[in-house]
Amino acid sequence: MTYLVRGTLVHCPVPPGEAGAELESIDDGVLLVEKGRIARIGPASELLTGELSSLPLLDYRGRLIMPGMVDVHVHYPQTDIIASYGEQLLEWLNRYTFPAEAAFADTAVAAETAEFFLDELLRNGTTSALVLGTVHPGSVDAVFGAAERRGMRLAAGKVLMDRNAPGNLRDSAASAYRDSRELIERWHGRDRLLYAITPRFAPTSSEAQLVAVGRLAREYPDAYLHTHVAENRAEVEWVRELFPGSRSYLDVYDGHGLVRERSVFAHCIHLDDDDRRRMAGQGAVAAFCPTSNLFLGSGLFDYAQARAAGVRVGLATDVGAGTSFSMFRTAAEAYKVSALLGRPLSAATLLYLCTRAGAEALYLDDRIGWFGAGMEADFIVAHPGATAMSRRRDRRSGTIAERLFALFMLGDDRHVEAVFVNGSNRLSTDAGRQAGRSEQRPG
Ligand SMILES: [Zn+2]
Repeated sequence: MTYLVRGTLVHCPVPPGEAGAELESIDDGVLLVEKGRIARIGPASELLTGELSSLPLLDYRGRLIMPGMVDVHVHYPQTDIIASYGEQLLEWLNRYTFPAEAAFADTAVAAETAEFFLDELLRNGTTSALVLGTVHPGSVDAVFGAAERRGMRLAAGKVLMDRNAPGNLRDSAASAYRDSRELIERWHGRDRLLYAITPRFAPTSSEAQLVAVGRLAREYPDAYLHTHVAENRAEVEWVRELFPGSRSYLDVYDGHGLVRERSVFAHCIHLDDDDRRRMAGQGAVAAFCPTSNLFLGSGLFDYAQARAAGVRVGLATDVGAGTSFSMFRTAAEAYKVSALLGRPLSAATLLYLCTRAGAEALYLDDRIGWFGAGMEADFIVAHPGATAMSRRRDRRSGTIAERLFALFMLGDDRHVEAVFVNGSNRLSTDAGRQAGRSEQRPG
């Protein structure tokens, strides 16, 4: 299907330079969408002429049209334990995470949760994510199947852990290797789906399992490697005891060949300069999870420091320790963390973090994360004045940067009116339908 979408277009078409991320906006702009791809982008005065003017038009004037958001670290089996009280990382895992994940031995639980989880992502304007399942291969089949039915570009993987976890959640080095291979062969590169080799974190993998993970990472260099590092001080201390021969927590992974392009490490809070240099030099990615880091009291991720070292950084909700599926809420907390560190993030950087940075983190910035001819048509329609308060605030905003900044600080799922995945509208609120229906043609 070929159609036009009209509204205020805003995105980050180039990677951040020395001066940081840059916005590009077209106040009255149009996307030409053809067969699930963006064919053209430009001002309405140019595109709504000639033969294009007869195409179907979705008119979202007054709304912001931005690329679909990318969440680079989220646990779908933890959907139901979001907002559980009062623990730090290691206690959180034992008290809430492991019991919740044990329920995913039942494929019906996995299937029902996967449907809810993906709908919740879409309701919040998130069109792509890097997702952890549980130790059960069926949990990954469930989320990939549900994503395929929605046409989403999604990466996911089975959690690998063979020690320091309850018996019913442990695999082995051999089954981790075999099951991951089978899942990669079944899902990696099918439709828009990509596989992530997913050891939970160093403490729950034996030496033999880490060796098996390294073998998978070598055999499938275009699959992701997805895990956690240096989130919490007690965790870092535990890793030091478990791996006395490693220079640092990151070095445990590096020693097994796991620090490489397409390796995404959640948190990266308690790293040193050498760790950051290695991540940057080897193309690995840090997932910045501000709501989770604040909620579990883990610490403050220094975005400016990571970028100065040349590390790729994506933004992530980390639900269930994260407290919202909304990337607007997540960006607001990222701003506050950076403010505490004395380097508040600009509106352009917040938009970049929610969109293009996630695409760069997943090495998909030639397909998603910004608008350009040939890019996959994942985009959202956001209403900066969707609530009484945000409407009042939006009236005071002069520039696009001011509008965006207030949207990031005040926004949530109520501010997402329509979500297009691969060119198909997958979410339409009443307000979004009303906005999109008025197919007014230019004079
Ligand atoms: Zn996590």
